[in-house]
Amino acid sequence: MTIPFLDLKAINLEQASELENAFRKVLTSGRYVLGEEVELFEAEFSQYCQAQHTIGVANGLDAIFLILKAYGIGFGDEVIVPSNTYIATWLAASHCGAVPIPVEPDEQTYNIDPLKIEAAITSRTKAIIAVHLYGQAADMDAINEIAHRYGLKVIEDAAQAHGSLYKGRRVGSLGDAAAFSFYPGKNLGGIGDGGAVTTNDSSLADIIRVYRNYGSSVKYQNDVLGYNSRLDELQAALLRVKLRMLDAANAKRVKIAEFYLDQLKDIAGIVLPFVPNWANPVWHLFVIRHCARDILAKKLADVGIGTMVHYPIPPHKQLAYKDLYSVPNSFPIAEAIHNEVLSLPMGPTLTLAQASEVVFAIKASSADFFE
Ligand SMILES: *Cc1c(COP(=O)(O)O)cnc(C)c1O
Repeated sequence: MTIPFLDLKAINLEQASELENAFRKVLTSGRYVLGEEVELFEAEFSQYCQAQHTIGVANGLDAIFLILKAYGIGFGDEVIVPSNTYIATWLAASHCGAVPIPVEPDEQTYNIDPLKIEAAITSRTKAIIAVHLYGQAADMDAINEIAHRYGLKVIEDAAQAHGSLYKGRRVGSLGDAAAFSFYPGKNLGGIGDGGAVTTNDSSLADIIRVYRNYGSSVKYQNDVLGYNSRLDELQAALLRVKLRMLDAANAKRVKIAEFYLDQLKDIAGIVLPFVPNWANPVWHLFVIRHCARDILAKKLADVGIGTMVHYPIPPHKQLAYKDLYSVPNSFPIAEAIHNEVLSLPMGPTLTLAQASEVVFAIKASSADFFE
């Protein structure tokens, strides 16, 4: 590809010497799990997210799972999830024994539609997981208001939204707890897997700290049936380096997004991302919709432009969920979105010159569609 969808190597090489120093520091410290780097990262990430606590864990899926588990959610319970999300959101509910109950998205933002949540609440509902999809916050005030009325927990799946603002506030402290992923391709990504929970709920933070480490707060004393889900020292040290650059990296994504939004407007067949006035997205992905999505993707690939689809198959149509949701077209909005979305090249090392090549190629291929 002349213009890759995401150039992870270039992103990490920009901070190569700082990352190498961090690696060396951990290597020579002799301490590789639950040490100073994790503690420092947790403090720095709490400050960044304007949350009281951060608990580093092994990955984003575990972060969601451990929140649900720590709230005592399990068999017989229901958890409201977006029908339009990455499957991890659903799996976290399933893995603790609860049933994920999908709610359709708003057709403009693609995030869970607060107006459709109430109809999905039953006496078994315990929590709502709101996903800040593609880097743009869900409508948290509306979601919190419903949750408050029904006594439900609100969990943010912020895996795609590190640094994103909702009404001027950072995601990560807008509900009862939030889950982050540091998978390499995320806005804040490690050189491997990682994740974190952020929360202002001190007792939840205490329980998750115990759960992530074999149910133990005192070595070799196990109070609950815990897990092994720790962020390791090396990832924490590398993430501390990358956290310092996060705002600058997000600002570069915003510049590219503004350019795309301006240059691609008024092109027949293309639906651009919609940003409500209360959102400042961090553009984890720049997602357009096109009725001939696969043809457009092929035309772009033919001229060396990498794109991706997030996501091609919604969770309810995955084999993994065939027993739960097998009715065809049961979540038509999510299905329509999955059939039409295309993610354009986006990232902190993408240049405006490259973005204008993408624009040029899209304009050229769109002309073909209507000739
Ligand atoms: C990446 C992602 C996750 C899972 O994170 P992992 O670290 O890969 O486990 C969860 N939810 C969403 C929306 C994601 O994009």
